[in-house]
Amino acid sequence: AKGEGRNTCRFFAPVMNQQVSERLAMENNLRHALQQNEFELYYQPQFCFATQSVIGCEALLRWNSASGLVMPDRFIPLAEETGLIVPIGGWVLREACHQAKRWQTMSSKPLSVAVNVSAVQFRPELVDDVRKALASSGLEPHLLVLEVTESLLMSDVQGSALLLEQLRALGTRIALDDFGTGYASLAYLKRFALDKLKIDRTFIMGIPEDKDDSAITSSIIDIARHLNLETVAEGVETRAHVDFLHAAGCHQAQGYFFDRPLPVPEFEKRMREPSEP
Ligand code: C2E
Ligand code: CA
Ligand code: CA
Ligand code: CA
Repeated sequence: AKGEGRNTCRFFAPVMNQQVSERLAMENNLRHALQQNEFELYYQPQFCFATQSVIGCEALLRWNSASGLVMPDRFIPLAEETGLIVPIGGWVLREACHQAKRWQTMSSKPLSVAVNVSAVQFRPELVDDVRKALASSGLEPHLLVLEVTESLLMSDVQGSALLLEQLRALGTRIALDDFGTGYASLAYLKRFALDKLKIDRTFIMGIPEDKDDSAITSSIIDIARHLNLETVAEGVETRAHVDFLHAAGCHQAQGYFFDRPLPVPEFEKRMREPSEP
């Protein structure tokens, strides 16, 4: 058994080393990505049922690394662990505000832009970053939506409530992302200064065949309406999703049925087309 253990060790050691060095390389590259201008924001349209038009978008981060396009799920966790998400998130905020301002100038109908805020970024300094991004871009504050998650808010309920108040005092709006997947209780919904609930894709996926998912989605929409919160469904992929959500009274929808996240030129091309899903 002893020998076996040693063999196992010898067998795994090179694999481990490879993983560690890949991670180190990734961290190094990530560290330089900002300076080298390798980040890009894609924008996914958000469709409004009442106006039957696109009224906003969500900014989603992409990394054009030397070895190809990297999706956020592959580098955000590392960026959070290393703290790099703070400068990266700052860039996202400034870039999204400037872009939304450009669109505001180009077109008569204003588009809101939603930006994802990581738990690591969610600290008192964020208020100043947001204030500066708004000031330097000239974007109207109500066109900026900050997306936060339940787990982010629940880690420090009092501190989060205060921070949200300060962000909202700047005139920005707040959306609770991935709603229904965390363990935030309904009681907290009224405690936090929120404007929107984003219903998580995992519930939308089951609509309309899965009775539980359908019931949960309808209930979230009802509760949100009573609390004066707008609802956004994410991961809307089919006509059946759209019909169900519209009938249930959901305000907005986002997903592949309408559009994938698009680079700026494609997003602008899409905006020039007559808007029909
Ligand atoms: P999220 O905030 O929940 O963003 C929605 C994700 O769902 C996006 O993945 C989007 O491309 C994808 N999606 C949209 N519509 C559909 C659909 O109809 N079907 C399916 N299957 N997926 C759809 P993406 O762009 O890969 O982003 C993944 C996550 O990375 C985001 O989840 C968010 O948590 C994080 N993220 C993205 N950009 C940023 C950022 O700038 N800062 C931070 N902190 N996190 C970000
Ligand atoms: Ca989001
Ligand atoms: Ca989400
Ligand atoms: Ca999600």
